[in-house]
Amino acid sequence: MIIVMKPNTSEESVKNVLGLIQQRGLETHVSTGEEVTIIGVIGDKQKICSCNLEIAEGVDKIVEVTESYKLSNRKFHPESSVIKAGSTQIGGSEIIIMSGPCAVENEEQVMETARAIKKSGAQILRGGAYKPRTSPYSFQGLEEEGLKIMKTARQETGLSVVCEVTSLAAIESAVKYVDMLQIGARNMQNFYLLKEAGKTGLPILLKRGLSATIDEWLNAAEYIMAEGNPNVVLCERGIRTFETATRNTLDISAVPVIKEKSHLPIIVDPSHATGVRSYVKPLAMSAIAAGADGLMIETHPNPAIALSDGPQSLTFPQFDDLCNDLRPIAKVMNRTF
Ligand code: PEP
Ligand code: MN
Repeated sequence: MIIVMKPNTSEESVKNVLGLIQQRGLETHVSTGEEVTIIGVIGDKQKICSCNLEIAEGVDKIVEVTESYKLSNRKFHPESSVIKAGSTQIGGSEIIIMSGPCAVENEEQVMETARAIKKSGAQILRGGAYKPRTSPYSFQGLEEEGLKIMKTARQETGLSVVCEVTSLAAIESAVKYVDMLQIGARNMQNFYLLKEAGKTGLPILLKRGLSATIDEWLNAAEYIMAEGNPNVVLCERGIRTFETATRNTLDISAVPVIKEKSHLPIIVDPSHATGVRSYVKPLAMSAIAAGADGLMIETHPNPAIALSDGPQSLTFPQFDDLCNDLRPIAKVMNRTF
């Protein structure tokens, strides 16, 4: 941490700040310029978080030089993590595709989808049983009945399954049926939910919040990991910007930024990022080219009658075509698929 003092601050104010820091057992390094004095603080900054240094006489600003997230930080864990979800390894050399309907509607829909996506090469089946819809009047999901259907699909196809959880009750049900829990964009900063999900020990797919910075996202991952659960996979799903041509704006730069800042795997969801079926394939390809470890793609046997997110869902032939066209890109990126 660096403390920048206001121009021409009195020596007495500088001494006072140094005293506040040193009283807590931390070392200081003072650099006195012609107008501005800068104080470097060495040691665990948590020890001084109760000092209210920002309001001490003469302090202009405080600049953080290390990030507040530690467990998710690549600086403290240089090797990339590989996370196991059911029988699937995420973050290794293989590109992982999670696919399936936005919402679980019935067993036939899920079984048909599971068989089709497996044939095309997907390793994980997704399907929402608890749907956090923008309108309270939209379909809210089959809840536990939906989780049971996902488990049946897992048993019959061998695919691993991931479902979103939106409450403690949903977590308590989901742990009986799924391989991986998803925390959706709307709950990325629901810290209570993050902690409860972390306690299960199950791998967690953590979607980026609608308006979350990368720093906030990695701090959300930190909440899960601080519960003793290192199994977090990040998912970039588009953020809110001024652009209205797509549902959200896919922040493709998040992929290399996360790869630099964190050791956690990152996948990209071009379905929720765009909301438009025809944009899903080009963005899926660019995500893999940018270095993503996998994708989340919504598919439906008949998107025209989907109860949720039909306009962005791919038909099975469209999904198959996407998977085929991804293979050469995976190869260029030294990945298998
Ligand atoms: C979903 O994956 O079903 C979903 C609701 O996504 P998001 O949280 O990214 O909006
Ligand atoms: Mn959806």
